[in-house]
Amino acid sequence: MCGITACVGHDRTVSTLLSGLDNLEYRGYDSAGIAVPNGTSLEVVKRSGEVADLVESVRRASPHGSIGIGHTRWSTHGAPSDENAHPHTDCTETVAVVHNGIIENYATLRDRLSAAGHELRSETDTEVIPHLVEEHVDAGCSPEVALRRTLSSLEGSYALAMLVSGDDSIYAARRGSPLLLGLGDGRSFVASDAPAFLEFTDRVVFLRDGDVATLSGGDYRVTDSGGEPVDRP
Ligand code: GLU
Repeated sequence: MCGITACVGHDRTVSTLLSGLDNLEYRGYDSAGIAVPNGTSLEVVKRSGEVADLVESVRRASPHGSIGIGHTRWSTHGAPSDENAHPHTDCTETVAVVHNGIIENYATLRDRLSAAGHELRSETDTEVIPHLVEEHVDAGCSPEVALRRTLSSLEGSYALAMLVSGDDSIYAARRGSPLLLGLGDGRSFVASDAPAFLEFTDRVVFLRDGDVATLSGGDYRVTDSGGEPVDRP
């Protein structure tokens, strides 16, 4: 099992992501990483090893931003290494994704992306996701539509969180792996399990398979796989 954490609208994004990862350590992992957009580009800090090692790397890089995503990885495709740690990004380092699960048709997708000129930098199944989103964004789709179209081409299981440089939302989706939202005052969270954000809020929304959630500030919206709004208590 891996851990996903993400937050929107928090004034201490990086430390919130790191404490979320710390609180998800019980799930087991071999690598950890975070991504935050700093206004002009994405800052990604990731490495194999413990969250404490990541904290050290973050201290040196000192990334900052008001939204972010984080991950503890339990490798299924590709060895535990800095390059294979999440978040994974697209060719232009504009889209960042953290993922829990297995993309079963990744080899076919990877071959097609490589033939189309995409440069994949890891051995993971996950990395196809930001590159597929990149293609749809390049074709004129909004990040949410680009994600939905990407999800429709994936076989396998996922819980994921995504951010796009220049956009102030976090996008989350699940199919076959747990994912929930935390709703705070003017800020919101995504996580594999509630301990990631319980120190900030105990208002929790449990996503269901096929859901796509968009979070901005304290607001959230959940749609089903066809894009229709759904109510999640
Ligand atoms: N299959 C992905 C990988 O090997 C995600 C593993 C996980 O759930 O942490 O990177």
